[in-house]
Amino acid sequence: MPYYHTWTIGCQMNKAESERLDSFLKQQNYQSTAVVEEASLVVLNSCVVRQSAENRVISKLNALRSLKRSRPNLTLALTGCLVNSDLQALRNKFPYVDYFFKPGETPQWLTGAAQLPKVLPYKPSPSTFVPIIQGCNNFCSYCIVPHRRGREKSRAIAEVLSEVKELVRRGVKEVILLGQNVDSYGHDLVGKPDLADLLGELNAMSGIARIRFLTSHPKDMSSKLIEAIANLGKVCKQISLPVQSGDNDILEAMRRGYTVEYYHQLVLEIRSRIPAVALSTDVIVGFPGESETQFQRTANLLRELKFDTVHVAAYSPRTGTLATREFKDNIPSDEKKKRLHIIEQLQEKIATQINAEFLGKVVLILVEEIKKGKWQGRTQDGKLVFFGDNGDYLGQLVEIKITKTSPWALQGKVELNTIN
Ligand code: SAM
Ligand code: SF4
Repeated sequence: MPYYHTWTIGCQMNKAESERLDSFLKQQNYQSTAVVEEASLVVLNSCVVRQSAENRVISKLNALRSLKRSRPNLTLALTGCLVNSDLQALRNKFPYVDYFFKPGETPQWLTGAAQLPKVLPYKPSPSTFVPIIQGCNNFCSYCIVPHRRGREKSRAIAEVLSEVKELVRRGVKEVILLGQNVDSYGHDLVGKPDLADLLGELNAMSGIARIRFLTSHPKDMSSKLIEAIANLGKVCKQISLPVQSGDNDILEAMRRGYTVEYYHQLVLEIRSRIPAVALSTDVIVGFPGESETQFQRTANLLRELKFDTVHVAAYSPRTGTLATREFKDNIPSDEKKKRLHIIEQLQEKIATQINAEFLGKVVLILVEEIKKGKWQGRTQDGKLVFFGDNGDYLGQLVEIKITKTSPWALQGKVELNTIN
């Protein structure tokens, strides 16, 4: 049996697609190996959302070029967001790569078939990603994703339901529904079902314990969806709602389609309907022209709204995006780093306080894996929990008494084993 090796960076969508690619390769009688030198096929699943990610992909490609020189029979394939429509340009740039395929596509050259089999993760984790909508229609001015992943395309509800049913049959307890813009799910389907409808159907499915979804765009978060999250027992009270900036002019330049006031109001509505909700957000610092005052508005918004988690990134110009065409990347790199650090420190303090509230409490977690002798799982609202115990807890819902907290995670011991 030939060996294959995959290397993946980037968002959850990339991870989900690599899991499915993995199954597909196994169906084609390949066997996986962690040792790249052993493989006859190497697939790179790339990310180019920021220059730092792109640099890592390029250095990986360079290393593989050297490997290929010593082993000319090695097949190299590249997928993910580095793959654009201009295949010829890619071939010119990376002549040692044998095949390119777009994110989410299946490598057709391996089967030759026009219609490719639908594949599920080979050995699904108790918590498994399920992509429900591909692409993005938003074209935020800084973002490369719509240019690489194309327009939004939702999967039919029946297809998602039958896939989740099969995953549950294989032992999955939790599904994480994925989309770059997950709350716009369904607008392109017949009858226009929406995410709230899908959540309702999944909630009624037996065998499934928890349902998560990400990432939500603030402009598409409807009151109907908020009600569904509040009322459906299996839907986790956790919402990922990227704000990107706390300044209206920057939001406008980013083409986000909402104002700070709208976002505030939305968070108020969510928190009044779902009091125990955990909110996470993304922000970009150092967007072209961002003044110190504008940056402080972002920091103030985080101080005021107190998110459970904040993902902060320094603006990185991406060729082909509107921001790169229209604005000069005029915030010096040191200044971007300084702003990034300020946000990180601020959020560390906020998360320390939020997580400290859990000390001494008992939380119910779904155990996802064991790493370095510690079991790891998540609470219903997405908090990462570690515990040490000799039992086998994989895929079980377990009650843990929290004995230690940090801004990033909670630690504890088994309180009562509620095997499910
Ligand atoms: N669809 C989601 C949304 O509406 O925010 C997020 C998807 S995007 C691929 C993931 C995150 O990467 C964004 O939230 C943004 O903070 C960050 N990002 C995207 N483009 C970026 C850029 N050019 N520079 C810095 N960060 C960027
Ligand atoms: Fe990128 Fe904006 Fe689409 Fe998110 S919503 S993927 S940030 S274009």
